[in-house]
Amino acid sequence: MMMKKMTVVLASRNKNKVAELQRLLCEQLGDVIELKSLDDVGITEEIEENGTTFEENAMIKATVAASSGYPGLADDSGLVVPALNMEPGIYSARYAGEHGDDAANNALLLQKLQGEADRRAAFICSLVMVFPDGSVPIRAVGAVEGEILCNPRGKNGFGYDPLFWYDPLGKTLAELDADEKNAISHRGMAVRKLAQKLARRLGLVEDDG
Ligand code: IMP
Repeated sequence: MMMKKMTVVLASRNKNKVAELQRLLCEQLGDVIELKSLDDVGITEEIEENGTTFEENAMIKATVAASSGYPGLADDSGLVVPALNMEPGIYSARYAGEHGDDAANNALLLQKLQGEADRRAAFICSLVMVFPDGSVPIRAVGAVEGEILCNPRGKNGFGYDPLFWYDPLGKTLAELDADEKNAISHRGMAVRKLAQKLARRLGLVEDDG
């Protein structure tokens, strides 16, 4: 039986992010979801991410996306470092002040970890789908553990990737290509978990409870 495609609105205006997530969801679920951006559905408001956790921020963004009348999907992610009291956390994108200044954020992280022996870190991604009919949201969290190097390595990825050492592959995340990173990343893991839950919700697979 042919299933009608389900439109989902991603709480983002970034076409690359929409395309990337569309591809990942397709890999997991087959061609059942059509992902749109906020711009595609005419939502122009600035979303204030004033939550105190990754999940709260994802929920805020997904709720705005769901005001389109379609299910809304949002992710929120960042780096947590135990030796820095879990900083930069939800402030990962603007750790050094200006939003999205990766070089300044990385420099500040290295400065704060100077002389610190415990360089463990994790990337966390919280992904939430909110339904306009008020059904229970679907949530999924992914995490990847690593260590912060003293010097950057690699040119791929973004953000803190060049400093994030992933020991099982003996590389930083910036030394992985996009598929290699998705296979082990916090975001890849969260998408796979959300896709499984959504598949059960849509009745695409049997519910194992
Ligand atoms: P966002 O919620 O995906 O926009 O991520 C917020 C911030 O967390 C980014 O601007 C980066 O500083 C950091 N971050 C999240 N995911 C990654 C990643 O996969 N690699 C490197 N940095 C990341």
